Amino acid sequence: MLDHVIATDPEVAQAIQAETLRQAHTLEMIASENFVSEAVLEAVGSVLTNKYAEGYPGRRYYGGCEHVDVVEELARQRACKLFGADHANVQPHSGSSANIAAYYALMQHGDKLMALSLAHGGHLTHGHKVNFSGSHFEIVHYGVSPDTELIDYDQVAELARRHRPKVLLAGYSAYPRTLNLEFFRKLADEVGAVFMVDMAHFAGLAAVGIHPNPVEFADVVTTTTHKTLRGPRGGMILCKEPWAKAVDKNIFPGYQGGPLMHVIAGKAVAFQEALQPGFKAYQEQVVANAKALAETLRQGGARLVTGGTDNHLMLVDVTPLGLTGRDAEAALEHAGVTCNKNAIPFDKNPPAVCSGVRLGTPALTTRGMKEEQMKQIGSWIVEALQNAQTSSHLDKIRGHVGELCQQFPLYANRTKAAVSAR
Ligand SMILES: *Cc1c(COP(=O)(O)O)cnc(C)c1O
Repeated sequence: MLDHVIATDPEVAQAIQAETLRQAHTLEMIASENFVSEAVLEAVGSVLTNKYAEGYPGRRYYGGCEHVDVVEELARQRACKLFGADHANVQPHSGSSANIAAYYALMQHGDKLMALSLAHGGHLTHGHKVNFSGSHFEIVHYGVSPDTELIDYDQVAELARRHRPKVLLAGYSAYPRTLNLEFFRKLADEVGAVFMVDMAHFAGLAAVGIHPNPVEFADVVTTTTHKTLRGPRGGMILCKEPWAKAVDKNIFPGYQGGPLMHVIAGKAVAFQEALQPGFKAYQEQVVANAKALAETLRQGGARLVTGGTDNHLMLVDVTPLGLTGRDAEAALEHAGVTCNKNAIPFDKNPPAVCSGVRLGTPALTTRGMKEEQMKQIGSWIVEALQNAQTSSHLDKIRGHVGELCQQFPLYANRTKAAVSAR
């Protein structure tokens, strides 16, 4: 494994091997990450990386596309089957690219977009001022209620009636609850808005019906393919037939050139995996694990935003433990738990510091961990946060983490090769 990279470029090879070991020997709890299958890795590492294929299957601007056409057609058909969509565009290079193209399929420069603010769990591409979305469109942000920390649906309705946005957007990066898509759909109809959902985080849950399926409610749905959906790093747009032309046109030639055919092959393989019965059991375990972890953290004295979770992620307010999000992230990293600091709603700390950490269970669940391991990990997390300044204590937890990781091997052959190359 990696023989050719080792021969050509030992420095890059060494970094890849070190990363292989980091993934194998630490607990990956970043809510937006996952581990793809060996099959997806092979597809993404294939000769399809060599092929130019501007255009769409059957309508390319380059010759020699007969085989990549098969791949893209399979990816599109499987995506449509998985979510019951009329149309799928599998070419977006990322979730952000998918959003750029979807916005311009639905709006003109300067039109009004209404979405969840970043500070309350939304995404940068949902109209944050440092992002293109914040400068290209007029933004109306809704948020969560200070009492319940749940989306304030009364406020959403009031703002939509007052501002009459062109696009009403639902979706999040850091919100631990199920979205009321029926509410958004009715409201969009009432105020004459197009309803768009960015399901980047919960696409895997939606594919198996644990979260209501956005495709049944929204006009246009964007997603990443690498989060709960467990495919390669990339994006996708699903839509109803009337939007198909505008969506395709805005991806190519609108905002992208040639599609990444090796990544599209990885998407096709991942969708095939997601269509198997085991994928539903996986997503159910992701949610069961999140509930078990949240309960352990709560019992250990941590405060969970909204009191718990319905999905794959949770936001932990670490201020009751006398910590900032930044310090908590660093202490957990020292203890072998990888996560990210995250603002909590109405955060009193600046964005670079934050008051919370976001934890997710998709990646650990892929490794085969269940509730029992979540309870164990939850108690280590509490211990690490309570002893964040004691380096020796964090080292001790890291030792336990390493032992647990050995019991749930990841990419066994790659890890073995990386160990022996050390
Ligand atoms: C992750 C995410 C994206 C962006 O995905 P990238 O592939 O990183 O560009 C967009 N929207 C939401 C809601 C996300 O969580």
